[in-house]
Amino acid sequence: MKLTFILPAIGKKPGQKYIGTWKMEPLTIAVLKALTPPEIETELYDDRIELIDYGTQTDLVCITVETYTAKRSYRIAERFRQRGIPVVMGGYHVRLCPEEAELYCDSVLLGNAETIWVQMLRDAQNGCLQKRYTGETAEYDVRPDRSIFAGKKYLPVSLVETGRGCIHQCDFCSISQFYCHRYYARQHDLIVQDLRDTKYKYTFLVDDNLVADHDNALRLFEAITPLGKKWAGQGTLSMAKNEKLLKAMKKSGCEVILIGFESLSKENLKQMNKSFNYALGERDELVKRVHDAGIGIYATFVFGYDDDDERTVENALEFAKKHNFYTAAFNHLLPFPNTPLYHRLRAENRLIHDKWWLQEGYHYGELAFHPKKISAEKLSQLCRDARKEFSAPKTVLSRGFASLGRTSPLLWGLFWGMNLRIGGEVDQKMHIPIGENLDELPK
Ligand code: SF4
Repeated sequence: MKLTFILPAIGKKPGQKYIGTWKMEPLTIAVLKALTPPEIETELYDDRIELIDYGTQTDLVCITVETYTAKRSYRIAERFRQRGIPVVMGGYHVRLCPEEAELYCDSVLLGNAETIWVQMLRDAQNGCLQKRYTGETAEYDVRPDRSIFAGKKYLPVSLVETGRGCIHQCDFCSISQFYCHRYYARQHDLIVQDLRDTKYKYTFLVDDNLVADHDNALRLFEAITPLGKKWAGQGTLSMAKNEKLLKAMKKSGCEVILIGFESLSKENLKQMNKSFNYALGERDELVKRVHDAGIGIYATFVFGYDDDDERTVENALEFAKKHNFYTAAFNHLLPFPNTPLYHRLRAENRLIHDKWWLQEGYHYGELAFHPKKISAEKLSQLCRDARKEFSAPKTVLSRGFASLGRTSPLLWGLFWGMNLRIGGEVDQKMHIPIGENLDELPK
C-alpha cells in the first residue's frame, strides 16, 4: 500500500513569485509518518514549495486542512477522487467543520490522530474506510519521523512539540476550541530526546502556549537546560510576572518568544476574553522584564474588535517601535468557523461572507466581516501599512541597534535578513487568491 500526504498552500498568484519565507517543516506529517507501519510506502507533496503530481501511483491520499487552505484542499481532493483514489482529511478545520469536510472526502479524522491512525489505515487497506474517525485528545507519546522530509528545502529550524492546547478562552482562537480549553503537556523525556536529535542550531518549540502551566514549563526548562540548545516558542506576557520562570527560560536557551498582545485597548481585550494576561498599567514593565532577561519578543496584534479605529492601529505600531520588538505582526481579525467570535459576528449580521474560506474571489488580506468603527477596506490597508512601516529599512535599523545584545550574536545577525525580507514580502502576500491556481509552480 502507498500513502500520499499532502500539505496544501493557501493559494497562488498566477505566474507570480510565491512567498519564499516561513516554510517550516510540517511537524504533523512527521508524526503521522511515525505512526504509519513501516510496510506502508509513503510520500509527501508540500504544495507550498512544490507541484503536486496528481498522476502519482497511490492508494490513499491524506490532506491536512486548515481554514485558509480548505478550498484548495477540497479541490486537490477532487482531482484524486476523480481517479478513484480515496481521500482522508484531518486538521483544525476538519475538526471545526466536519460536516463541510465530509462533502469533499471519503473519511474525516477528528481530533488527534494518535489513537485512530493505524485503525484508519487498516480499514483503507481492507477497502472499508469509515466516514468518521474520532481521536482522543489525551496523552501522546510519538516521536516524529522526519525521513518524510528528505530532499525538501525547509527553513533550517528544527521543530519540537512540547504541548497542545491552551487553558484560556480567547474568543477568536480555534486552538482553544479544538482542545476544549485544556492544555496537554508532552512528556519531558520525549522532548529531551527530540531536542537531542535536532538537526539545526535553532529549534522552535511547537506549543500553543508554552507557559500555560507555569510549574510544567519550569520543570521543562530545567530539563532541557543541560542540552545547551537555542530556541524560540510561543507564550503569554503573564510569564514575565514569574521571575523564576523567566530566568529558567533564558537559561534553557530561549532567544525569542512570540507574545500575542492582540490589542492595547482595554475594551477590546475584554471583548476577546483576553484580559487575564496582565493589568494594562503593567504591560510596559512586563515587556521590559522579558527584554532584561535577554529574550527578544515577536509581538502579534490583531485588529477589528469593536473599539478599533485608525488610531488603535497607529498606537500598536508606535508601541511596537517604542519597545524595539524583534519582529511583529499586524493582522486583521479572522472569524474562524465555530469560534465564539464567529457566532457573535454572524448573530450581529456582520459577516461579509458566511463561509469566507470557500468564497469565490476571496483574497488573503481581505476582511470577512464589517468592523464597527472603520471600513473593512480601510482596516485591511492599515494592517498592510503597519507591516510595511515596521519592516521599513529605517525602522529595522533603529530597532536592530536598540536591541543589540538582547539575543545571541547569531540571532541578532539573523534579525536583519529576516526583518528586511518580511518587508519585501508584504505586498507579495497581500491579495493571494485563496485556493486558486492549483497548477502554478512556485518560483
Ligand atoms: S492564550 Fe493564545 S492559545 Fe490560548 S486561547 Fe488565547 S489566543 Fe488561543
